[in-house]
Amino acid sequence: MTFEDLNLNKPLLNALTDLGYTTPTTIQQKVFSVVMSGQDVCGIAQTGTGKTLAYLLPALRQLEFSKEKLPRVLIIVPTRELVAQVVEEIKKLSTYMSVETLGIYGGTNMNPQMAAAQQKQDIIVATPGRLVDVALSGALKLKSIKKLIIDEVDEMLNLGFRTQLKNIFDLLPAKRQNLMFSATITDEVQALINSYFNHPVTVEAAPAGTPLKNIAQRGYEVPNFNTKVNLLELLITSDPDMTKVLVFVATKQLADQLYEQVETRFPGQVGVIHSNKEQNHRFNTVKQFKNGTYRFIIATDIIARGLDIAEVSHVINFDTPEERESYIHRIGRTGRADKEGIAILLVTPREKEQQDQIEALMNYQIPMLPLPENLVISDVLTEDEMPKVIVKEIKLKPVKREGAGAAFHAKAAHNQKTNKKVSHADKMMKKYGKPKTRGAKKKK
Ligand code: AMP
Repeated sequence: MTFEDLNLNKPLLNALTDLGYTTPTTIQQKVFSVVMSGQDVCGIAQTGTGKTLAYLLPALRQLEFSKEKLPRVLIIVPTRELVAQVVEEIKKLSTYMSVETLGIYGGTNMNPQMAAAQQKQDIIVATPGRLVDVALSGALKLKSIKKLIIDEVDEMLNLGFRTQLKNIFDLLPAKRQNLMFSATITDEVQALINSYFNHPVTVEAAPAGTPLKNIAQRGYEVPNFNTKVNLLELLITSDPDMTKVLVFVATKQLADQLYEQVETRFPGQVGVIHSNKEQNHRFNTVKQFKNGTYRFIIATDIIARGLDIAEVSHVINFDTPEERESYIHRIGRTGRADKEGIAILLVTPREKEQQDQIEALMNYQIPMLPLPENLVISDVLTEDEMPKVIVKEIKLKPVKREGAGAAFHAKAAHNQKTNKKVSHADKMMKKYGKPKTRGAKKKK
């Protein structure tokens, strides 16, 4: 089957030819016919399956030229980088059409976006929070939206955008076509579908959790953080094939810490991305990575989803993700569009359990490699890894209470053993389900 076999028009076929795409992917074929029939779509698809074009092609196909000033298609995605990427894809596909597209996202001045929203727009691509702000300001009218597309729904809900999504649904006309894409259908995603979608046709690209077949996975067991840094530097230095490397870490603090260490060894070759970096910095870092200025990016999971950077040679999981799906999303940044990719996992003994979980999800055992002989094993522990942190914490809160005995200390020690900082409030929340202070407990 080729794109000629789909009911596309000349402008779209020409654009696809320019892009060098001849054959629709599975999800593109399936989604196209369902959208053309007017039904709602629930697409289960990871990135790398061609899902962006799967919704853009029929959306653009059905977007007749119109004098209507108000936007008719609304696309919602979880991150600002994805807004930029989808806007870019629309531009490429609509080279031979007249389509006005506006990206709306947070982290930048809202005034230019409000001004642009009052011009003629056909398609809006937006992150949920800023979209609500612009719509509620009155600058953006959503009453002509005929098609709503929500991408990465599971991630959007993970990021806590449930309320914003509800607000958006309330602002949209009831008569519209809904398309949503999600890597996994969690209970929360299903609840959203039940409330707002009209018996969607489920279309699946590849079962979630299937490792993409052109990604070679491997792992190293490493004793601690500093040895991981040594190993990372050794791999980067000794492997000339590491041309475009994405290094994922768990937290913003770790990203900054690792960036500082690696940057001194490889000045000018490393970028860092996380949600505390301002938007221009984030865009520029991706740009410099794409154009080859940066050989590495150190990033949090903020860019694990959806971001399409051609020819990422390696994804390094500096830490083992706690959420096993994150691993699949992270490694999916490589091995794209028929290119081979390599994914490397660095595991400390305390992360072993997470590795087991990931392997169970994939039904695949990541081959473990012996540590290189010239690797310097560090015995310098980070603050997180050092037991003295526990002593500090106990000294700060010297409250004697029942349950603060051996078991409590063991639990505290266990909690300190992760790279993630867990606040006392969070710990208590996890344990009791509601905030509870030791003081309050004593008074009872
Ligand atoms: P996505 O899953 O939407 O992130 O797309 C993954 C990558 O595949 C992107 O770089 C797309 O431009 C590319 N792509 C999408 N559809 C096709 C196709 N039919 N043929 C070749 N490449 C494609």
